[in-house]
Amino acid sequence: MNHLWSPWRMKYIENSEKENGCVFCNAQAKVDSAENLLTFRGKNAYVILNRYPYTSGHLMVIPFEHISNLEQLNAETRAEMMELASRCTTILRKIYKTESFNMGINIGEAAGAGVLGHVHIHIVPRWPGDTNFMSTTGETRVLPEALEDTYKRVKEGFENM
Ligand SMILES: [Zn+2]
Repeated sequence: MNHLWSPWRMKYIENSEKENGCVFCNAQAKVDSAENLLTFRGKNAYVILNRYPYTSGHLMVIPFEHISNLEQLNAETRAEMMELASRCTTILRKIYKTESFNMGINIGEAAGAGVLGHVHIHIVPRWPGDTNFMSTTGETRVLPEALEDTYKRVKEGFENM
């Protein structure tokens, strides 16, 4: 099973963010650009690129409210998050010509949540054999696409929906 990436083990990736306060609250406070990587703002939640993606097109859906779990969010926000996650897969299918995704939420420390205080859904496009062509050196992955290019393509995807 070790050829399959587990979205439940994202801790080290998210923890490599070294900034004060909550990274997701900080990101949404900035102007949207390839800097904060925020691609779409909904009413209660937004879509952002993972700064340390597992594959190109690794997105996250995050509520604007700083809340650590699903049950404290209101039903409208939960519904919107699922709708946005679905839209992410639609866009990623188009951009990357894939039919495979990992989608997951880590809630709590033992589950491997890196940003404990602010719940988020990971959406990761997958391809057959993708762990083979991505070289891995320690915790640094070499991706086939620059983050700025992914940002542009995903943002355009949302604009054209
Ligand atoms: Zn937050």
